[in-house]
Amino acid sequence: SSVAIPTTQKAILVEKYGGPEENVLRDIPVPTPKDDEVLIKIEWTGANYIDNYRRSGLYKVALPFVMGQDVVGTIVQLPKVAMTETGLGKLSLGQRVWSPAAASFAEYTTAQWWKVAPLPANVEPRDGVSMCTVALTALALTREAYAVKKGDYILVRAAAGGVGLVLVQLGKYLGATVIATTSTAEKAELAKANGADHVLLTSNSSEDNVKEILSLSQGKGVHAVFDGVGADTWEEDFLVVRTGATIVSFGNASGAVPPFSPLKLSPKCLKVVRPTLFPYIATPEDFGALAKDVSDIVAAGGIKFAVHKVYPFTQDGVRQTQIDISGRGTTGKLLIHVDA
Ligand code: NDP
Repeated sequence: SSVAIPTTQKAILVEKYGGPEENVLRDIPVPTPKDDEVLIKIEWTGANYIDNYRRSGLYKVALPFVMGQDVVGTIVQLPKVAMTETGLGKLSLGQRVWSPAAASFAEYTTAQWWKVAPLPANVEPRDGVSMCTVALTALALTREAYAVKKGDYILVRAAAGGVGLVLVQLGKYLGATVIATTSTAEKAELAKANGADHVLLTSNSSEDNVKEILSLSQGKGVHAVFDGVGADTWEEDFLVVRTGATIVSFGNASGAVPPFSPLKLSPKCLKVVRPTLFPYIATPEDFGALAKDVSDIVAAGGIKFAVHKVYPFTQDGVRQTQIDISGRGTTGKLLIHVDA
C-alpha cells in the first residue's frame, strides 16, 4: 500500500543553546530512513525535563537539532532490512506505535525498527506518550538501578511529576511502602491518589522531614531513594537511607549533583547509581523486553497516567512546555498534539 509522504515538514529546532526562546519553528526535509529504520507520522509527543537540559546546553547535542523524544504515531514506511521477532509482535504499514525516538517535535521522524512498539489496543494514543520516556525510565530504575522488593521502604522525590507518579505506582505494584516528597498540598493529594503511603511537603524543614522519614521506615531509613531533583535533595538523601541502601540519582531538576568522594558512602556502606534510560534500551533484546513489560502493565491498568495539559504544536506551545515544567507548577505529563 502507498501513503503520500511530503518532502518537507514543520519541526521545532534548537540552533543555539539558551532559554525557551531558542525553540524555533522551521520547515525542514522529512527525514529519509536508514535501511534499519521506519518512518513514523507523529500524532502525539510530550515534554520531558531533559528538553531543558538539551536546549540550555547542560547536555550537549550537536547543533542544530530537532527537539523531543516521545513518539506516538503511525508507521508510513517500513525498514529495508528484515525484521526479526523481539517479543513485541510484527510491525506493519499504518500501524499505531509508540517509541522513545529522537526528534519528535516534528511531523515525521525515523526510528530503528526494533525501538518501536505497537500501541496496545486498549491504550489511548495520548497515554502512549507517557510510555515512551516516563514509564520505560520508571520500570528500568525500579528493576536495574535498584530492584524494588516486597517489604522495602522507598522514597520517591518530585512524586507528582511525570516520572515520579509512575515510580510511586510501580513501587506499590512491587510491594514496597512508598514515602514521597513534593512541593504543594495539591501535588501531595495526587501522589496519594496514585498510591503513595506517606507524602511529605518540601516546605517543611529538612530536619523535620528527615525525622519523619526515619520514623516511617522502622527508625532505620529507606532501602532506596529515587531522586530526580538533584542538587537540592542530595545531602538529605544520605540522612534518610539505612545501612546498605541505594541512592538512585537520575536527574537534575534543581541543578546537577556536585562531585563527591567515595568516602562519603562508607559510614552507611551505601551505593549510588546515576542511570539514564538509553543504555538500558540499547539492544533489540533489551528494548523488546522492557517495552513489552511496560505495554503489558499499562494495558492491564497497572499504571495510570495523569496529564497536566495538552499544548499545541506551535513555537509558542513548545516554548511554554519548557517554561511550565521548569516552573515547578506541573503534574504528570505535558502533551503536545502534533496531528491535531
Ligand atoms: P517532572 O514532571 O518531574 O518535573 C520536575 C519536577 O522536579 C518539578 O515538578 C518539581 O516537583 C521538581 N523540582 C524540584 N526542584 C525543582 C527546581 N528547582 N526546579 C524545577 N523543578 C524542581 O519532570 P520529568 O518527569 O520529565 O523528569 C523528572 C526528573 O527525572 C528530571 O530530573 C529528569 O531529568 C529525570 N529523568 C531522567 C531520566 C533518565 O533516564 N535518567 C529519564 C526521564 C527523566 P516538586 O514541585 O514536587 O518538587
